[in-house]
Order: sequence, then structure tokens, then C-alpha cells
Amino acid sequence: MTDQYTFTNPVDQYHTGGFDEQYQEGAGLARELDPKPDHGEQTYRGTDRLAGRKALVTGADSGIGRAAAIAFAREGADVVLSYLPSEQADAEEVAGLVRDAGRKAVLAPGDIADEQTARGLVRTALDELGGLDLIANVAGKQQTQESLADITSEQFDETFKTNVYALFWIVQEALPHLPAGSSIINTSSIQAYSPSPTLVDYATTKMAINTFSKALAQQVAPQGIRVNVVAPGPFWTPLQTAGGQPTEALPEFGQQTPIGRAGQPAEIAPAYVYLASAESGYVTGETLNVNGGMPTP
Ligand code: NAD
Ligand code: MG
Repeated sequence: MTDQYTFTNPVDQYHTGGFDEQYQEGAGLARELDPKPDHGEQTYRGTDRLAGRKALVTGADSGIGRAAAIAFAREGADVVLSYLPSEQADAEEVAGLVRDAGRKAVLAPGDIADEQTARGLVRTALDELGGLDLIANVAGKQQTQESLADITSEQFDETFKTNVYALFWIVQEALPHLPAGSSIINTSSIQAYSPSPTLVDYATTKMAINTFSKALAQQVAPQGIRVNVVAPGPFWTPLQTAGGQPTEALPEFGQQTPIGRAGQPAEIAPAYVYLASAESGYVTGETLNVNGGMPTP
């Protein structure tokens, strides 16, 4: 089996080639993807890098958030899992994996485009984990539209609420409670610098996330709180089959990267772990690109 530790050629380390056309309503489910993504379920090995940490992960049910949540738990963190109610089945699988790692999993379904729900996640973490020192904002909304004329105000609003406002609400609510040593990790995208013509609203939010993070990182550094960003390239997740890409683009998905294939969520979890752990103590305001080699500024 492919893992993250064996010396190997990254070009064919995971699924090569494109993907069959497939479509899911709503946010989609990891369990319905064909082929099944690899979130590190069978492979991620922890080494106590986050022992005793208390984490909140949004979008934790599937994709990149699931991979981060599994890795955080195997590194020794308790985790609050945020996701949409429609994703309960995926989230319960992740909770099982967190508990198998001997850590606490707290299920926190809800729509983070709603201010009270987003802010409430912080209270859930404080009450259920007895504190909070690690936030991975991974949730995101991406809906492709051929023309600007097709982007409704409702879509524009939902994309900004989910990707930018929720991040602001969660971080603002959490900051008074975060001890020195805490880490905030936000999730941008290659779209921040290389926007697709059909992702105008989404790409704009991803640039906002980078800028938000770089400004805030300077503000809170003296308190010993670090703010960093992970910027994925094309990863095989439900987002891409639930309207994030035109369905007919899936056979080509990921092929344009220098590595020549899409990434699997297991391949990006170590970036979150690095930015979460004290190993990266001198790193803040940074964006770590994990994108198969596409050039970034
Ligand atoms: P994903 O569908 O597995 O995860 C996105 C998650 O966002 C969903 O599982 C859902 O729980 C959450 N979410 C969306 N709207 C929400 C809402 N209103 N309330 C609560 N939760 C909500 O897909 P993914 O690709 O793992 O996405 C994770 C992050 O990675 C996103 O921020 C996305 O923009 C970013 N990203 C993904 C790719 C990629 O190719 N997959 C590329 C660049 C950036
Ligand atoms: Mg999901």
C-alpha cells in the first residue's frame, strides 16, 4: 500500500490519470466518491507531535479536513469536528477514527455560514475539550459558474460567508481563549494566485484568506499565537464532484500539475501537522503550497 513514509516516485505514488464523471448534490460525501480518496486512514503514523493539544477542525468530515483531523488525533490531539448536518455519515466515520486513536472526538454539525453557529464552535471546544489551542479552518464552498452573470447574490454571499466570514467569526471568538503556543491554520488555494475563469467568487475568497492570515499573524505574534495558511492544488475530494468543477472536467482533474496527477488528502495532512506543532514555532504568516508543483508567488 502507498504510504507517506516509503521512498517512492511521487508521480505514481497515488491514483494517476483523471476521474470518471460523477456529480453529487449539496456538499457531497467522501463515501460516494469513485475512487475512494485516501485520507491516511490506513497509513498515517503519529509521533506525539500534538500530544495533549485541543483542536477544532472545520470541514472535518471529508477531504482535506478529514485527513487533518485523523492526523491531529494520531499525533495526540482531541478534536472538535465541524461539518454540515447532511454530512453526518462521513463525520461519524472520522469520529470513529479519532476515538480509535485514543483521543476525544466531539461531533459539531452546523452551518458555519451562520454567525452564531460559527462562533458557537469555540464554546463547544472550550466546554467539551476544556480549552482550545489549535484551529484548522478547512471548510469551504466552491461552485463553478461559466459566466459572471450566473453567479447569484445568494451564491456570492454563501461563498464569502463560508470561506471568509466564518473564518473571521471563529478566530475572533477564539482569540481571547487561545494560550501562547496556539496555532491557527487557514486553508487557501492555488486559486488565490492562478484563478480559473469559472471560479471568480471562490478564487477571490481564497486570496482574502491569504491576506487575512498575513495581517493577523503579525498582530498576534507577540502573544505567541501563530497564523499560517495551507494552499492546496487539485485534491480528490467531494468538493470537486459537488459543483466545484464542471463534471466534464473531472477526467482531466489534476493532470495539469507538474507531478501530473491529483493529490490525495493524505498527502496534505502533514502540512497541517507541521504548522500546528511547535516544530514550526518560528513560522508565522506563511503559506505552505501543496499543489503538485504549480508555481506560486
Ligand atoms: P470537502 O468537500 O471534503 O470539504 C469541504 C467541507 O467544507 C465540507 O466537508 C463541509 O463540511 C464544509 N462546509 C462547506 N460549507 C459549509 C457550511 N456552510 N457550514 C459548515 N461546513 C461547511 O472538500 P476539500 O477539497 O477537502 O475542501 C477543504 C478545503 O480545501 C476548502 O477550503 C477548499 O476550498 C480547499 N481547497 C480544496 C482544493 C481541492 O482541490 N480539493 C483545492 C484548493 C483548496
Ligand atoms: Mg464533506
